[in-house]
Amino acid sequence: MEPAMIVHGGAWGIPDDAVDAHLRGVSSGAEAGHGLLRRGQSALDAVEAAVAVMEDDPTFDAGRGAFLNKIGQVELDAMIMDGNGLRAGAVAAVRNIRNPVRLARAVMERSRLVLIAGPGANLFARAVGVPACRTQDLLVGRELARWRAIRKKKRFRVREIFDTIQAGQRRGTVGAVAIDRRGDLAAATSTGGVPHKPPGRVGDSPIVGAGAYADNETGAVSATGWGEPILRVLLSKTACDLMGDGLSPGTACRRALSVMRRRVDGIGGLVAMDRRGRPGFSFNTPRMAWACVGPGGKRRKGI
Ligand code: ASP
Repeated sequence: MEPAMIVHGGAWGIPDDAVDAHLRGVSSGAEAGHGLLRRGQSALDAVEAAVAVMEDDPTFDAGRGAFLNKIGQVELDAMIMDGNGLRAGAVAAVRNIRNPVRLARAVMERSRLVLIAGPGANLFARAVGVPACRTQDLLVGRELARWRAIRKKKRFRVREIFDTIQAGQRRGTVGAVAIDRRGDLAAATSTGGVPHKPPGRVGDSPIVGAGAYADNETGAVSATGWGEPILRVLLSKTACDLMGDGLSPGTACRRALSVMRRRVDGIGGLVAMDRRGRPGFSFNTPRMAWACVGPGGKRRKGI
């Protein structure tokens, strides 16, 4: 099987002045993951590496650069899933972890659990030797300024950040899906959630079937967008099921997003890969940052 991967850096109203940073970020993620696939490493290794590179890039709302919650804390959500055996690991509302996707992988491989939330995730991190970082290591000045500005507003609607283009803004959940030489699929997603979320709010990203899904028998998907509607239609699993029914990855993504729009008025975006290694994507927000290294090493990216 020819290895391939596709990543996203968030679906929302990405303004013109943030386009270059997003394109650079998603390309670096896709290259990091594909480099491992070329050397024969697994799809799991590839999606973990791609997401970790984007978590480290403060352009994105994941790892360093994530949004602050209502009380000024950085709480992160991430998951990873192995299409071979439907194994999954996730962390939710975790603080002081630089690369939550790596901790999610440790949950999958070094515990019998699927999801660990809050302080329990930090205890687990300590037990498996994943180091804690300082809040300042995750915080960037831009997000502190955003937090202060939102606090002054009378009304703040989360949906607006996904469907309107706001100059001067930077942010975006990150995700990746890949297929390796053995034909195994994997998916991963990581986020700081939405700005000004209440403490303890968990979105779609760490929930199996919502923020990501991978099944060697159907396909692999990573989602981004407004989390609560994504959760209610299990968007990633819906798109995987449609690939299982024979739809191409792009059509499956479009169809799943239109189900979400019709049933719960949700907006967002998806990247996908089917079990033949064909990549695809779709979004119903103004823009979504994505990059792909397809079969034959063919590179594409866009917003
Ligand atoms: N889906 C994420 C959440 O609601 C946010 C995003 O994808 O931008 O937590």
